[in-house]
Amino acid sequence: MLDDLNTDEVRRLRQLADDIVAGTEDRTFWIGGARDTSLAILRQVAEWLGDSCGQRRFDRDRPGSLYAHLPCVRPAGHPGQHLDALGQSWEQPAEVPR
Ligand SMILES: [Zn+2]
Repeated sequence: MLDDLNTDEVRRLRQLADDIVAGTEDRTFWIGGARDTSLAILRQVAEWLGDSCGQRRFDRDRPGSLYAHLPCVRPAGHPGQHLDALGQSWEQPAEVPR
């Protein structure tokens, strides 16, 4: 699907998908399908453009956990919570290692 789009179009598609995912954070019971599709788009664009956030969840009590979690698929510099390809979101403290 992404092969037919130019880079600018892919970025716009990603923004749309990111808006849907962010907007459905607390309402997965009625819009799960749209959220799943948007997550799939974010995951594909993350692989295709390679400029997504990429932050991984870090559990302070488990230092080895940094690479046990999937990276964030939202656009770099996004506001709010991080989100991985499985739809799990998390807050990240500022001093976390990358
Ligand atoms: Zn992120």
